[in-house]
Amino acid sequence: MGLAAPALLFGACTTKVEESATVESGLMIPMVGSLDLSQIRIVDTHVHPPRPVTLSESYKMWNSSFVDAMIPAYEYEGKAALREKLDSTFMQQIYNMPRQTGYNNYIARVYDVAPEISAFDGVVRAGIDRGFTNYITEILDREKISSMVLEKRDTVPERPDGPIPDGRFVWSSPIVDLIQPQWAIERGLTSIEAVSRAIADHLAACVANGCSGFKSSVAYYRPLSVNMVDKVTAHAALQLLLENPPTLFVAGRPNIPDYQETELKTAFRNYQDFLLRHIFIKAGELNTPMIIHTAVGLHPALRFEFNNPTELHRVFLDDDIKRVETKFVLIHTGYPYHQFVAAMLSQFPNVYTDLSFYSKFPGVLEETLRGFLALAPSQKIMHGSDSNNVPEEIGYCAWNVRHVLAKVLNDYHQNYGWSQRDCEVMANNVLHENAERVFEI
Ligand SMILES: [Zn+2]
Repeated sequence: MGLAAPALLFGACTTKVEESATVESGLMIPMVGSLDLSQIRIVDTHVHPPRPVTLSESYKMWNSSFVDAMIPAYEYEGKAALREKLDSTFMQQIYNMPRQTGYNNYIARVYDVAPEISAFDGVVRAGIDRGFTNYITEILDREKISSMVLEKRDTVPERPDGPIPDGRFVWSSPIVDLIQPQWAIERGLTSIEAVSRAIADHLAACVANGCSGFKSSVAYYRPLSVNMVDKVTAHAALQLLLENPPTLFVAGRPNIPDYQETELKTAFRNYQDFLLRHIFIKAGELNTPMIIHTAVGLHPALRFEFNNPTELHRVFLDDDIKRVETKFVLIHTGYPYHQFVAAMLSQFPNVYTDLSFYSKFPGVLEETLRGFLALAPSQKIMHGSDSNNVPEEIGYCAWNVRHVLAKVLNDYHQNYGWSQRDCEVMANNVLHENAERVFEI
């Protein structure tokens, strides 16, 4: 299967292991000295609920939203032809990403099949047929994944049901719906005090039912910066929004308005800034971390100016947020702003990051992990997958992080003078201890 070259890449192996038949047969072992990272358990900090679909079915589900972002909104002759062309162009792009090479080779090593998508789909289909929960349990056991933080799809403040075995997850709750005017309208709330109270009650209900984190994905449609807005301004903003129902919405998000008029744009921003700050403060009071999406990649609709994490610096220095010591987990490494995230990890004791999504790309995983470990305490960095639909992604990301971490830690051990014990502490922190502490697992 042409595995000699990848095995050499993993300078992680000791001479003894390099000489052993196990490496040549494709069982690459992530060693640092005599420490075997494949024996250390993993907590995955960011997983979306799996669905019983194959990888190519999952890609098809995503593809139309990529295509939508690249097609003019107005009607014109040739629009259908462009859509058809982009459909196959985006699909090719997905299959040609390094992530796919990693997936194919991982599945080939684990299941002894050909390193190609049809074999990957066959493995997933067979797993689903054995029973989806059993299949997920096999993957978690195989990669020694003890637990995960599962992001709920809806905002109902209850522990989600689903195929993941009960003892193997905690859950987080999305907050973006709460700050849309629609949420207030549906509840008949017409004052900013009433909305603030209802949001506080909702967050408290989540925590009472075991919620381990609040997830903000605002960077999909607005900047991460949050301005200080007083209650009178926020209340006036709500009145204006209630009087002017939106006619346009963010693509793919039918409950998020896309106002065009300057006055309504400003009101929408003020209303959301007031409520976001309120949520950050409540999260601190409830001792529940804020999980914040910050990263650009893959999806053409993700904008750099919305995902710039330097905008959060002012949030971390907000007196009311300092007082309640809200924890912030900037997920997906902040890429390509990961160096700024590394700087903030070193500055703020309440700021963390995870490697999710980019742990599917070994080259970026190495770059981001190196950048974080180079400056920040290893207590600030957590493993995550951002697995979507297909649970083999959870397994591949776990495999990947152990091998890339071994490669990075070998540099510390062999070239920087770190002891094996020093490296073991870093590995345990990144692979499970930080997540267990931050999310109280
Ligand atoms: Zn995600």
